Amino acid sequence: MKALITGGAGFIGAHLAEALIARGDKVAVLDNLSTGSMQNIRSLKKQRGFEYVIDDVLNQRVLAEMVDDADVVYHLAAAVGVKLVVESPVRTIEMNLEGTQVVLEAAAKKRKKVLLTSTSEVYGKSAKIPFGEDDDLLIGPSNKGRWSYACSKLMDEFLAIAFWKERKLPVVVVRLFNTVGPRQTGRYGMVIPNFVRQALTNKPITIYGNGKQQRAFGYVGDVVGALMALMDSESTHGEVFNVGNEIEISIKDLARLVKKMTGSRSELVYVPYDQAYEAGFEDMQRRVPDLTKIKKCIGYQPRTQLAEILQRVIEYERAQLNV
Ligand code: UDP
Repeated sequence: MKALITGGAGFIGAHLAEALIARGDKVAVLDNLSTGSMQNIRSLKKQRGFEYVIDDVLNQRVLAEMVDDADVVYHLAAAVGVKLVVESPVRTIEMNLEGTQVVLEAAAKKRKKVLLTSTSEVYGKSAKIPFGEDDDLLIGPSNKGRWSYACSKLMDEFLAIAFWKERKLPVVVVRLFNTVGPRQTGRYGMVIPNFVRQALTNKPITIYGNGKQQRAFGYVGDVVGALMALMDSESTHGEVFNVGNEIEISIKDLARLVKKMTGSRSELVYVPYDQAYEAGFEDMQRRVPDLTKIKKCIGYQPRTQLAEILQRVIEYERAQLNV
């Protein structure tokens, strides 16, 4: 079995590549290194059955060749991270719409199953907790940049499902909820790598808003296991699945926990959303996946809980920072 992973030098893509290689599959990675890095796939470069191409998914000749050569396609290449989305909205929208379109077109020509990674952002401001795959979605207005990410990913979902319905291309759509673990970069705003780095360097831990907003963090190792099982199962074709963890923590408590676990002297500071992102920024208070569907389909069970996840991230960041 050979898998093509677009965005395979990103945080989740590289973990997925490792897991596939570990079970004996072959892996080809296509990544333009816009947010991914060679560092993420360094250990894989020497492995048998692993290859990579540094290029854009929009380079259709390269993409077509790589799709030809693979049995299945994990499409992870996308603009990610709320900060990046707010700062580079044109790139986000173009990348997410065009990238998915060309991948689906190429895969449809050769009938290669595509797993599309979407996002829990698509649930928007919905207050019906937990979020189920068939629930209505509540997206904010188009003058608030954040929502362009949700809408671009939602169009990707529609397009993938349309390819399944109209052209019988096997696809599965996965909505990822706050996936975290070692090697996630804090550069695009993600909270855990940022808090851990701030704590380890005794710098202020920056809590955005009042810190009462809650998140449920899924461990990347558990998530990539789910992606592989969803790809392997034929009962997932044309379906949408939530993947993540159901256990919530407030961002304020997360900051306290990181401080305690690192033995840090950092103070906790509160940064208004306007300063952290942009004027009028809207955050969601809670975001919890309903995992009933994926549990039933592939027996998914999130195994790694927050304390263990943080321990692994702390160890990784300590080594990176040499502290
Ligand atoms: N956040 C924070 N401080 C930071 C980075 C993020 O308080 O340095 C908050 C952010 O506003 C959000 C939560 O932490 O409420 C999770 O942010 P992240 O960007 O990791 O994921 P999101 O849930 O926004 O997609």
